[in-house]
Amino acid sequence: MNKALKIYKILYMEFGSMGWWPVSSNNPKFEIIVGAILTQNTNWKNVEKSIKTLKENNLLDKNAIKNLDITKLADSIRSSGYYKQKARKLKEFVNFKGEITRDNLLGMWGIGPDTADSILLYAYNKPVFVIDAYTKRIFTRLGIRFNSYDEYQGYFHKNLPKDYKLFNDYHALLVELAKKHCKTKPLCDNCPLSKECQQKGL
Ligand code: SF4
Repeated sequence: MNKALKIYKILYMEFGSMGWWPVSSNNPKFEIIVGAILTQNTNWKNVEKSIKTLKENNLLDKNAIKNLDITKLADSIRSSGYYKQKARKLKEFVNFKGEITRDNLLGMWGIGPDTADSILLYAYNKPVFVIDAYTKRIFTRLGIRFNSYDEYQGYFHKNLPKDYKLFNDYHALLVELAKKHCKTKPLCDNCPLSKECQQKGL
């Protein structure tokens, strides 16, 4: 078994199935897209506040955001930080008329690879592996290091079955490990990956 799959199995045994994107509205796809844009450079609690405000004002809807004045939109998402830029990003998305592909998402102002891939994976069920800071941190410590987002993603795409549910679950498991053990200052005692890790205790 290759290492990418082995790590998944160990984490799955430890934490169980976690596939997730928290949604609270009856428009889950759009809520995920909004959440993926708002979560850039902030924590999820701040995003939740903005989503709640949007929902309470019936703005968690593509047409509603399209028709909303950008200043009012920015005000509604203030809790997420960088709210003026994020309002512009949301406007870019809702005004886009073409097909939602990775290239088209990356062509939108302010949408980077991790946001594009989160949208594709969680909102559109496309098998693209999302690379975030947690993924890079954990795999670097395990001894698997790359220089770019694309190289990290290529590693997972090459070594895992192309299954969006597995990618979804795997990413959630890595987030769980990063929160419980592989923090900035790692807590290696009882870490389920300690036998696989080059940097255990360092
Ligand atoms: S053993 Fe320590 S450094 Fe290695 S993955 Fe676990 S928490 Fe991170």
